[in-house]
Amino acid sequence: MSAQPPEGVTLIDHPLIAEKLTRLRDATTGLQVFRQLLREIAALMSYEITRDLATAPASIQTPVAPHDGVRLARPLVIVPILRAGLGFADGMLTVLSDARLGHIGLSRDEATLRPERYFFKHPPGLADADVLVVDPMLATGWSATEAIAQLKEAGAGRLRFVCLVTCAAGLAQLRAAHPDVPIFTAAIDPELDPRGYIIPGLGDAGDRYFGT
Ligand code: URA
Repeated sequence: MSAQPPEGVTLIDHPLIAEKLTRLRDATTGLQVFRQLLREIAALMSYEITRDLATAPASIQTPVAPHDGVRLARPLVIVPILRAGLGFADGMLTVLSDARLGHIGLSRDEATLRPERYFFKHPPGLADADVLVVDPMLATGWSATEAIAQLKEAGAGRLRFVCLVTCAAGLAQLRAAHPDVPIFTAAIDPELDPRGYIIPGLGDAGDRYFGT
């Protein structure tokens, strides 16, 4: 059972996602099923995350008649935070298949738990794009804070942060640092332990996804 979300946070509450997340959390779930579930949840969450994206008119011709339809008004960019964000981004691409990808690498200083920048690559035109920053776990919130700061420095203005599991401390940190960035999550867990793990969480999402 997740806590109620604070302002600016959307808790995506759906039975399919809740059931898949339960299996994902299960310590007995093996590599193959873990990967499959993470991708499936990311695809399902994509509907809610993109629900209010702006559209523009698009007139096309069907095989039998003209039709006034829509297209997305702005390009979409997905930016996974390495490593665990990669699996989540893969799942999102199954429904957002023409999104471009950026990548952010942040290593964690195990003593301070603070992130240090080591990699940043992004497509051109961030200022005109809707940018979805993804990391399955929003724990201390410092990596997400740093990733969004980097993207803002590079010109991004319309940002959303997407995670699978978070906790009050992570939400408070990210909301305080970037109150303009909406957050989407499938669960808000009760605790963060002294090592920076979400409790009950699902363990280390990168290790479980990559089998390390
Ligand atoms: N990163 C993870 O992969 N898991 C946690 O619980 C916290 C951060």
